[in-house]
Amino acid sequence: MGPSIRQDWHQKPWYSLDAWCKNVYGHKLYKVALDIGCSCPNRDGTAGTGGCTFCSAGGSGDFAVSGTDSLRARLAEGQRRLQKKWPDCAPKKEAVAPQSPRLIAYFQSYTNTYGDPDRLDSLFREALACPETAGISIATRPDCLGEGILTRLCRLKREFPRKFIWIELGLQTIHDSTALRIRRGYPTRVFFSAMDRLHDLGFPVVVHTILGLPGESCQDVLKTMQALNHVRPFGVKLQLLHILSGTDMAAEYEAGKVRPLEKGEYLDLVTDCIASLSPEICIHRVTGDGPASLLIAPLWSKNKRDVLNGITVRMKEKGIRQGSYYEPSGTADSL
Ligand code: SF4
Repeated sequence: MGPSIRQDWHQKPWYSLDAWCKNVYGHKLYKVALDIGCSCPNRDGTAGTGGCTFCSAGGSGDFAVSGTDSLRARLAEGQRRLQKKWPDCAPKKEAVAPQSPRLIAYFQSYTNTYGDPDRLDSLFREALACPETAGISIATRPDCLGEGILTRLCRLKREFPRKFIWIELGLQTIHDSTALRIRRGYPTRVFFSAMDRLHDLGFPVVVHTILGLPGESCQDVLKTMQALNHVRPFGVKLQLLHILSGTDMAAEYEAGKVRPLEKGEYLDLVTDCIASLSPEICIHRVTGDGPASLLIAPLWSKNKRDVLNGITVRMKEKGIRQGSYYEPSGTADSL
């Protein structure tokens, strides 16, 4: 399950994950972020040792539930945490009939297809077997999708036909020069091959991008959006570059080598990105999601509600919505 059943954007000028969930399930779904103790080839020496320069010690999963409890217990703990902000996330006590699932088990921290395939298979299976989950979402890298793990994921897809399995790929940018600078650890052609393979196998893909990477112009970022239109992922995340404490990017920032986006620049860029994306692509995130305690810059991004309002207002001012600048005829050769 990936592409929408019907395309109601629920009053937003873009096709959000919330809208997709409401269209398919009739209500919001809540992502429980999990840390299952994976590593990352960009940290353990396989592809590199320092990791991507923007990545925090938590492996881009600083809110994730970790520990050794059963996966179901970890999901319950995540649900308990989410209830503080979203009371609707709790199971309905008065319900008699089986309830529609409300959770997405999000395997977030580090690279979640990197490790013993049997161990990973058993954790994914446990999450899919929970009645509370609508599906699972697995954050990984395109160079960590070997046949061992793909075979197991295909089997899980067959065993749990009513649940979805999404693969989230950390692309950040299609530009290899930027990828080298941020030490992503794989060339962009690997991403395109992984997309082909995942399409062939029928897995919906959510692609992570970062807006404001060092050395990238607005045109560079928009080229990344065009490339995504071409490979047609189910979803895209538009993450603002956060400079987090303890990262190599923070050292570059202190040395004046990286300049975070001003709020106005970001609003202009992110709204252009949204307008450039195909209206078929579900936008899973339009701001940042980093931990406030680690955030060094840009500090204006701490007020997420203000940023989200700013995006809506800026789109209204420009008279645009998702797809306004989309050119369906674009090909990979034109990128
Ligand atoms: S962003 Fe992902 S690939 Fe890069 S160092 Fe962090 S966990 Fe590894």
